[in-house]
Amino acid sequence: MSFQSQYLRSVYQTVCQRNAGESEFLQAVEEVLESFDPVVEKRPDLVEAGIIERLVEPERLIQFRVSWVDDKGKVRVNRGWRIQYNSAIGPYKGGIRLHPSVNVSVLKFLGFEQTFKNSLTGLPMGGAKGGADFDPKGKSEGEIMRFCQSFTTELSKHIGADTDVPAGDIGVGAREIGYMFGQYKRLNNEFTGVLTGKSLQSGGSLARKEATGYGLCYFVQEMLSYIKKDSFEGKTVVISGSGNVAIYANEKATQLGAKVVAMSDSNGYIYDEKGIDLAVIKQIKEVERGRIKEYAKRVPGSVYTEGCGGIWSVKCDIALPCATQNELNGEQAQQLVNNGVAVVAEGANMPSTPDAVEIFQANNILFSPGKASNAGGVSVSGLEMCQNSMRYSWSFEDVDAKLKNIMINIFHNAYRAAEEYGHKGNLVMGANIAGFLKVAEAMKWQGVAY
Ligand code: NDP
Repeated sequence: MSFQSQYLRSVYQTVCQRNAGESEFLQAVEEVLESFDPVVEKRPDLVEAGIIERLVEPERLIQFRVSWVDDKGKVRVNRGWRIQYNSAIGPYKGGIRLHPSVNVSVLKFLGFEQTFKNSLTGLPMGGAKGGADFDPKGKSEGEIMRFCQSFTTELSKHIGADTDVPAGDIGVGAREIGYMFGQYKRLNNEFTGVLTGKSLQSGGSLARKEATGYGLCYFVQEMLSYIKKDSFEGKTVVISGSGNVAIYANEKATQLGAKVVAMSDSNGYIYDEKGIDLAVIKQIKEVERGRIKEYAKRVPGSVYTEGCGGIWSVKCDIALPCATQNELNGEQAQQLVNNGVAVVAEGANMPSTPDAVEIFQANNILFSPGKASNAGGVSVSGLEMCQNSMRYSWSFEDVDAKLKNIMINIFHNAYRAAEEYGHKGNLVMGANIAGFLKVAEAMKWQGVAY
């Protein structure tokens, strides 16, 4: 704990007592509260209104059983959740994650982060997250569909276009959103914008698939240009993961003139000195849903190494962690620094451990936290909601231009807030403070129920 303020210490102690054992949630809360010393000093009105005590407690946590039938006719049971974290500035909004590691702690950390991220986008969206401890790996198409339908049968009671609008996340892409949307429609007899990340034919937005990865690169481009008068041009880039975020981060970084030399999945990483052939990755990951080691079999000169953490030993100018939480630790951060990394921008949510972030900041690496640099996905989800409400769709170019503009604004808002609160250049503090202030003002205006 490195807060100066006695008040913040006591808030954090209560959070620890109330959420014992929830390590991811406590990590996320601690990281945000560490940014609030200058806020507590400058804004006693927000302390008086109890905003921080309220923000560290989700508004609602829904847990439910998801039973479904596998291909052999056997009944299987998983646990599902929706955490409606904060609705001060708009309907709850956040993804659904299907992965065996999903639990209350992970979803609370994600819902908490989402609240600040959504605020940073400038769009009217509250924070939420949901999911289940279901492992989509190795399941047939029919099993995935039946799981998603059963999950939605319960979820549908709690969501709605003006209440809570879920989207995809790890393990949930357009296919799964399609099954969930179909089930919602069957149950409610209405075609609304209740989920985002839908297929184009079902009312999805152009550029949603690309949004998080492209947005990450727009953010980095602006950060490099504003702070260092530099760009992606000629840079060597390493990207962890090979899912939705990683693939489109690769695509945009390459379009902006960089060379992406390494990518990974949860088993290992590939290195291709000539620059990764993204068409091969898309074929393996998007079409065949296979393993990344296939790449080395198909592309001469590339190398596969078992173990995903080794990717951070690859020399690069820009590192984009785009896989999962706590995938980059202190030792790996030091390795990146020793190899001359200049920029680390998070595409995943909380991929760097706290000691990794400390090392980047101590070495003057340009570092941006996920809640700022990966906000492109939810931004285009917000634009999808907007298009659904209008019963209209914008062109790819329109959405892409709006996304770029949002990412540039997020960078400047975070940069400005850090400067205003006495920590120029610290985008972790800037993003936390800028995201917090909008939500806090709304909560203050909305009062407390006695
Ligand atoms: P996907 O499920 O599409 O992809 C996740 C990728 O990460 C897979 O390639 C997976 O490999 C890999 N992976 C998982 N664990 C590790 C690990 N320890 N080391 C290396 N690779 C690993 O998810 P997304 O791309 O959608 O999400 C990635 C991250 O970005 C998550 O933190 C998510 O919360 C965040 N995010 C996503 C947004 C979106 O729009 N999709 C928006 C904002 C944030 P494998 O195939 O082996 O499982």
